[in-house]
Amino acid sequence: MTAHSLTRRPFLGLMLLAPFAARAADGLAAILAPGAQVRTLYADGEWCEGPVWVPALNSLVFSDVRRNRMIRIPDGGAPVTFRDPSDNANGNTLDAQGRLITCQHRTGRVVRQEPDGTFTVLAERFRGGRLNSPNDAVVAGDGAIWFTDPTYGITQGSEGEPRASEQAGSFVYRRAPDGTLAAVATDFHQPNGLSFSPDGRVLYVAESGGAPDGAMPRTIRAFDVAGGRLSNGRVFARLEAGVPDGLKTDTDGRLYAGTGDGVRVWSPDGTFLGRIPTEGPCANIAFGGPDGRRLYICAGPKVLAVETRVRGARVPA
Ligand code: MG
Repeated sequence: MTAHSLTRRPFLGLMLLAPFAARAADGLAAILAPGAQVRTLYADGEWCEGPVWVPALNSLVFSDVRRNRMIRIPDGGAPVTFRDPSDNANGNTLDAQGRLITCQHRTGRVVRQEPDGTFTVLAERFRGGRLNSPNDAVVAGDGAIWFTDPTYGITQGSEGEPRASEQAGSFVYRRAPDGTLAAVATDFHQPNGLSFSPDGRVLYVAESGGAPDGAMPRTIRAFDVAGGRLSNGRVFARLEAGVPDGLKTDTDGRLYAGTGDGVRVWSPDGTFLGRIPTEGPCANIAFGGPDGRRLYICAGPKVLAVETRVRGARVPA
């Protein structure tokens, strides 16, 4: 393991961004102790994504999408292979029973691993066609699974297997506990990360771009959630560069996003609080560790970790 201090900024890229990073860090005082150390836990990936803390394994599990494998890092231990191959797995989350739910680019499926090790396909087709390439998922308090279905895994050979889309668009879906699948947002270009507010009444969804006219939406949208439906869609945050990817919230309702230059954090009212810089793009984040206060950061080939003063939110049952 190696460590670097947020205030020492040892990387060239961070030195170039130093004035902004220093200013932005001020808003993060409630989140990071002065001199908080960002540790590198893993540096052998290509595109690390889908981090999830698995209490039963006392480990972080994440996907290396482009290397077609999943890795497990025990708390304080060395990385070990978790699934290889992984069907170009991307986003991961846990349900209330602690079962691992995984989005797979190559199969176009959302799957769940059962306690006996077998897999159950939770979502695969919608209106007669295969899904594109499910990217990220989150479980609601009622057991429904909400997930995004952009096209990265069928348009980029490095991320899955190229094929024509069989859907009318890249939708956000809700899989009800009875298995019924509904498209709950159909006006995204490429929906990506998603996360609920701590009370489960707001859903945040990252728009990672791909507009036909060449414009690149760089927004995080918020929706009210009620009765398994979304309403009152609005732009929660807009990025000036890069695109948002994975999203998470803490117990105070702050929103964390993996973005082109690090982890960006907003208060629940949309006020930008600051950025935890990374060397390159940050795809996704997850709270974990034995006390739930560690922020894991997937940044390109690396997985980083920093201890925080907050805890990740869990949607109430
Ligand atoms: Mg993603």
